[in-house]
Amino acid sequence: MLRHAALACLLLTGSAAHASDPAGSYTQADFERVRKLDAHVHANTRDHAFLDVARRDGFELLSINVDYPDFPSLELQADTVHELQAADPARFHFATTFSMHGFGSTGWTAAAERRIDAELKRGAVAVKVWKNIGMVERDAAGHYIMLDDPGFDALMAHLEARGVPLIAHQAEPRNCWLPLDEMTTENDRSYFREHPEYYMYLHPEMPSYESLLAARDRFVARHPHLKFVGAHLASLEWSVDELSKFLDRYPNASADLAARMTNVQYQSQRDYDKVRAFFIRYQDRLLYGSDLTENPPTAAERAQNPPMNPGADFTAEADGFWRSDWQYLATAAVQHVDAINADVRGLALPKPVIDKIYYRNARRVFGLH
Ligand SMILES: [Zn+2]
Repeated sequence: MLRHAALACLLLTGSAAHASDPAGSYTQADFERVRKLDAHVHANTRDHAFLDVARRDGFELLSINVDYPDFPSLELQADTVHELQAADPARFHFATTFSMHGFGSTGWTAAAERRIDAELKRGAVAVKVWKNIGMVERDAAGHYIMLDDPGFDALMAHLEARGVPLIAHQAEPRNCWLPLDEMTTENDRSYFREHPEYYMYLHPEMPSYESLLAARDRFVARHPHLKFVGAHLASLEWSVDELSKFLDRYPNASADLAARMTNVQYQSQRDYDKVRAFFIRYQDRLLYGSDLTENPPTAAERAQNPPMNPGADFTAEADGFWRSDWQYLATAAVQHVDAINADVRGLALPKPVIDKIYYRNARRVFGLH
């Protein structure tokens, strides 16, 4: 499933692609050789296609297990990442998660801690919480369970004490709360059209975007020593100004870029200098991530959902996706981005900034030394 692979038609000019940049940025030709870590992928199959393309393109991978009904079971996801890590321990890293089953009952915290500790022992470098907290799971009274529910406190203290980062996907892109014709990106429009159960504009009875992020913010404030990674630009993908405020307010937080590049490109189309300055200012707080997902090929293993691109070659799509993101962040070259129907100029971030966003920040946050 390549949710956001709708990038196409590179408009590379020879000079932009190959000339060495006076400002000290990389070129497209540097892509393979510069060390990179994709801090947000889902490797859900045992074949080595993901590892192979990562090796070829110079990436390490952080594969995130997540309690997502369209993914294989947590047990199967865990078995898969164990196997892939054993195959290439220097390149393949993974994050574990916990089940919400029985939340609030006696023994839930102990069971979640047992599961997490066992995975940490096997090499997990982080724990993931998903948007089911806030948007799916309900308590006995029928209220949605929010991330700042005191029922999480003991588990979070456990992570905090061990220096284990929490990767949190809370809420959704803000587009999710807008009518289809007001959404800023085609990838959001097609995803929410196809997932009405997650399309909040159709569910005014559900918690609002603002209330979900307010609960998340209260949670981050309550755990000032927890290493917090806001997945998908901390769900503030629509505004680098709002994301700046979040990062300023919570020094323990960082954010990954997974599956939100088109939202950033939408902004840089309108104010290039502001978006570029944002990346430079927060160069220590941002982690490159793609959300590339390789799912099992058979319907039985795949759970409910078919892949977005049935029959597509995962290796070619991953390679194309990564190169497009590199072109946008690392070079000044222009590419057409279908999702916002625009020719987008790359940010040409300075080499040291690229090295941090693509590698060093993730190595630091996830303790990969
Ligand atoms: Zn993801």
